[in-house]
Amino acid sequence: MRVGSLTVIDRDFVETSNLQRQLLFTEEDAREALPKAEAARRRLQEINSRVTVTAHIDDLTPANAAALLSGADVLLDATDNFETRYLLNDFAIESGTPWIYAAAIGSYAATMNILPGETACLACLFSEPPGGTVETCDTAGILGTAVTVASSLQVTEAIKLLTGQAGQMRRTLLSLDVWTGERSEVSAREPRPGCPVCGLRQFRHLRGEGRPHITLCGRNSVQIHEHGRPVNFAALAERLRPLGTVRHNDLLLRFSYGEYTLSVFPDGRTVVQGTAEVARARALYARFVGS
Ligand SMILES: [Zn+2]
Repeated sequence: MRVGSLTVIDRDFVETSNLQRQLLFTEEDAREALPKAEAARRRLQEINSRVTVTAHIDDLTPANAAALLSGADVLLDATDNFETRYLLNDFAIESGTPWIYAAAIGSYAATMNILPGETACLACLFSEPPGGTVETCDTAGILGTAVTVASSLQVTEAIKLLTGQAGQMRRTLLSLDVWTGERSEVSAREPRPGCPVCGLRQFRHLRGEGRPHITLCGRNSVQIHEHGRPVNFAALAERLRPLGTVRHNDLLLRFSYGEYTLSVFPDGRTVVQGTAEVARARALYARFVGS
């Protein structure tokens, strides 16, 4: 048995602070600010050239979820936020695609298998994404070994599924602390009656209701995605050059202006570093990238 094709979707680019836990990336990738999806594709192809690896440098959104996810045998969550996980959950339940939740924060790892029509879904256990103040990788950091444990457990379950042994997949939300060794499991064997997603089939996240601007994990930064058309990097670089430091390749343009750095992707999506305030980030975006 082998995995014939792997699709990697990521909206972010490699930074030095990622290297302690994201094992596919190198210091050179961070120096180049290479998009993570492309860096991962290159490394995976070096490991096994027989697997078809497709990289999408993109934000998974309600608008592109069907195009990016349709046809997959299983979806593996390696995201850093609940908006995307609830979107994955909606897509998976609506399309009948199995997905495997996995998360790591601090020294804590958690994972759960979602088999549409069989097990509970994410919304059966937690109707809404956690609100208010939750610990994030900004406040708690992430121990590299917690990521490795979460992903090993997740991928083991994927192997069971892909080899036709779904009956042996775990039917719980498993969480464990790799530091203290504490471990707990919550049953996820049955769908919860009245679950808004798998019971009532209300796919609010897939319909794009209430989608916020997104602050990015581990950094003082905000993602803005308001540009309706592709950006011409050469023209933008020429316009920005008198104002600050600009460099670009085919995949990313980076513009540094005082304490701020704007990283612009070809579709106009931009990560504004140097502030966690959405209003400030939007102002910088409007001023330098335009709408
Ligand atoms: Zn459910």
